Amino acid sequence: MKKILAIVLVLMMVLSLAACGGASKEAKTLTMATNAYFPPYEYYENDKIVGIDAEVAEVIAEKLGMELVIEDMDFGSIIAAVQTGKCDMGMAGMTVTEERLESVNFSDVYAVGVQVVIVKEGSDIASLDDLAGKKIGVQENTTGDIYSTDGFGDEFIERYPKGSDAVLALTQGKIDAVIIDNEPAKNFVTSNEGLVILDTEYAVEDYAIAVSKDNEDLLKDINAALAELTADGTLDKIVAKYIPAE
Ligand code: GLN
Repeated sequence: MKKILAIVLVLMMVLSLAACGGASKEAKTLTMATNAYFPPYEYYENDKIVGIDAEVAEVIAEKLGMELVIEDMDFGSIIAAVQTGKCDMGMAGMTVTEERLESVNFSDVYAVGVQVVIVKEGSDIASLDDLAGKKIGVQENTTGDIYSTDGFGDEFIERYPKGSDAVLALTQGKIDAVIIDNEPAKNFVTSNEGLVILDTEYAVEDYAIAVSKDNEDLLKDINAALAELTADGTLDKIVAKYIPAE
């Protein structure tokens, strides 16, 4: 009986290590830190995290002969999780910024994002200039947060843990606009009545995969895998599955 208990305990330890803890190439798991409330890049379908990033990561892991494990966390925790080696990579529709490059390396760019503005139908906000003095909702720690804080002033910015929370606040009239990446914006506008995206681009950005500065090998492997799946059309196929052509 004692023996069985010991085996169970050892098994539990092994299993708990598998999730982001000390994962390495030797362990054959590739742990990805994300925030799974960002459709179509990462979101829950029942209990499973799906989306462009999840599928691209799956293909990368396959190419590296590793097993993908996805860890869902606050967007603002992803860089630290990668930097400290808690997770192998961060993939979350994440924009390459100078500031983030001080903490982590980024892979080659695999997608482009645009910061856009969501307002309620019939809103008097029609341009970026009209946002001055209005209450703007953002997802905390994202580039939408950083840029709009810079551009419009901290006192006008309402920060939410998830993009969907900001959109909910907009539908409830608590804020006047949401600044967020274009593809999630389209998803939110489709799933919530009475919202529109302004025909104006706030910022155009590159999405890439964050990797620890201490893991140059993994960065090289990821870039090689990305190059392959770009060249053979796999990336386009995955994107087309989640972003229907307009
Ligand atoms: N692209 C934005 C950023 O990197 C938002 C990403 C996200 O919310 N998942 O800050």
